[in-house]
Amino acid sequence: MARRKYVVGNWKMNGLSAAIADAQAIFAAAKDHPGVDVALCPPFTLIGGMVAAAPGAAVGGQDCHSAASGAFTGSVSALMLADAGATLVIVGHSERREGCGESDADIRAKAEAGLAAGLSVILCVGEPREVRESGGAIDYVLAQVAQSVPDDFDATRLSIAYEPIWAIGTGLVPTVADVAAMHGAIRGALTARFGGKADDMRLLYGGSVNGDNAAELLGAGDVDGALVGGASLTAAKFVPIVAATAALG
Ligand code: PEP
Repeated sequence: MARRKYVVGNWKMNGLSAAIADAQAIFAAAKDHPGVDVALCPPFTLIGGMVAAAPGAAVGGQDCHSAASGAFTGSVSALMLADAGATLVIVGHSERREGCGESDADIRAKAEAGLAAGLSVILCVGEPREVRESGGAIDYVLAQVAQSVPDDFDATRLSIAYEPIWAIGTGLVPTVADVAAMHGAIRGALTARFGGKADDMRLLYGGSVNGDNAAELLGAGDVDGALVGGASLTAAKFVPIVAATAALG
């Protein structure tokens, strides 16, 4: 099955209720590019309002707890996201791996919870700067993939986002050759473990993607789309990324 292009915005801890109008503008403009699946992951507080304001649009969470419910103050379960109208969830973002001490085992459990709740899951991996500079990036990321990707899943609902930590929010990006090498290595590892079903998994690149560099970065081998942070907050910045992705065919 051909993999559809996928561009996902991660709003992080940005956006009050007035920002739902920006989401509406993004989803409206995205209709001009029906070959690209577009999703936004706002803070939990905006999910219900965004779903109501943009019926049928793909809205997701930026994290979930691995348990369905219980004494986990401040956490939100995958079932709760689905109940709020979300259809996807990001797990394993480096800001949670590093800032909240999440391990590969935690992220695998969260991915399993998201899939069990019927959500699509975007599982993030990526190396810190010192690992890239020491030449160990591919081994580092493949270890994350091995330990955080569940054993059993619907491949059309599990995407991997390769996000080098040093490229997130910095304006720095890897070379196209480095992106292609990493995505090729991830695809190879998934195929070795899962066989042909790995062909259905989408591999996204994330890290300082914008309207100017999207065509080049997303044109690298084995890149099926982008996970976008800062440039996903407004239609003016995000829609050019969607358009560049659409133009790649
Ligand atoms: C991200 O945090 O997932 C991300 C890719 O951020 P940015 O696009 O701002 O680098």
